[in-house]
Amino acid sequence: MNELILVRYGDLLLKGRNLKLFVRTANERIKEKLASFPVRYDFRHDRAYIDINQVSADEIICRLQKVPGLYSFSLLSHCEIDYDQIAELAIGLIQEKTGGKTTTFKVETKRADKTIPETSMEISQIVAKKILRSLHFLIVDVHTPELTLMIEVRKDGAYLFIDQLMGLGGFPIPMSGKAVSLLSGGIDSPVATFCALKKGIEVDCIHFESTPLTPIESAQKTIDLVKVLANYSINETMRLHLVPFVGIHQLILEKVPEAYQITIMRRMMLRIADMIRKKNKATAIFTGDSIGQVASQTLESLATIQHAITGLVIRPLANFDKLEIMSIAKKIGTLEISNRPFNDCCSVYVPKNPVIRPDTLTAIQMEAIMETKALLEKAVSETIVLDITPKTTITLLNGALTVSEAME
Ligand code: ATP
Ligand code: MG
Repeated sequence: MNELILVRYGDLLLKGRNLKLFVRTANERIKEKLASFPVRYDFRHDRAYIDINQVSADEIICRLQKVPGLYSFSLLSHCEIDYDQIAELAIGLIQEKTGGKTTTFKVETKRADKTIPETSMEISQIVAKKILRSLHFLIVDVHTPELTLMIEVRKDGAYLFIDQLMGLGGFPIPMSGKAVSLLSGGIDSPVATFCALKKGIEVDCIHFESTPLTPIESAQKTIDLVKVLANYSINETMRLHLVPFVGIHQLILEKVPEAYQITIMRRMMLRIADMIRKKNKATAIFTGDSIGQVASQTLESLATIQHAITGLVIRPLANFDKLEIMSIAKKIGTLEISNRPFNDCCSVYVPKNPVIRPDTLTAIQMEAIMETKALLEKAVSETIVLDITPKTTITLLNGALTVSEAME
């Protein structure tokens, strides 16, 4: 017996052409994700059926749960349109699900084949009666049942299911355009990057690496994080721009009073990110800032940093608590990597008393004494670009002290 997976799309409140684009894009991502399986597709205007053709349903659903834009999945069991056979199949499914425990239930039928004489309601009643005759632990409750048996009657047979497994929701990529995301080795920025992907945005990651001032392991962490995030991206591929930041970093440590070092560093990062954004025809910059988490993330700090550029900066975690962020990081598989002990440039040389309420004018005055234009351009031109997939095997830990040395 071949089984089908029913795929429901995400935000179907969309209308008209947008809806068509949504479904078309989602279907492309589904086919891409399952390209290595001999499955067959039946795409409808508001859902898709996948004939799993002997492949493990768990494996397929597990893969589809990494595709933004898909709302939920159900595994459908199939039999002929014969009420005894439908009831028998249903009894098996319900027994497996409940283990014989007292459960409230109802049957709901969707009749796609209108040539069948019975109405949906009548089919539900006929089947429910047969089930209740065999399974005495079931109690009918049509309003708030613990278990709903769904029956879809189609031309080629009856399809039954009980469970609905949730997908990511959101929009399929690249329905919402393109952005760059500032990815440190921390907990927050991978989650912010995931938020962008989930909203259907195609994302390039940017990491500022300050080797040998910072350990090379922190750049490796970023590569490993992108490998995980690539699972959610188009073709399971994600571009990482590794920006050599050590020159600017050093200059800031020499010239800027300690309290403002992080503020200026972050302003420089935004400037470079904005240059890379334009070069790659992206529209926005994502960061993992969360209000109040550290000195550089007070509203005044965020405003002072933001003023360095005019481009759109999106901070999806602005209002999240750390525990919420950590729970998403755990779910998407980045937490363990982020928790490795190596630090990046924002945490290696943290000043003892960073300014809590910096102001833009002071930041501009401090920057005026530094010659940074050429340094910023040099950083962009020396940026290493890597296309990373979950299978990428780049290891920077071959005794090198700097990223460029390790990449040679
Ligand atoms: P994270 O956990 O993402 O590192 P954080 O709470 O440690 O965040 P900060 O270190 O203040 O916060 O950085 C805030 C944001 O700035 C990060 O979420 C990230 O988007 C960006 N950022 C910081 N350092 C870097 C870096 N070395 N490379 C790229 N982006 C960075
Ligand atoms: Mg950090």
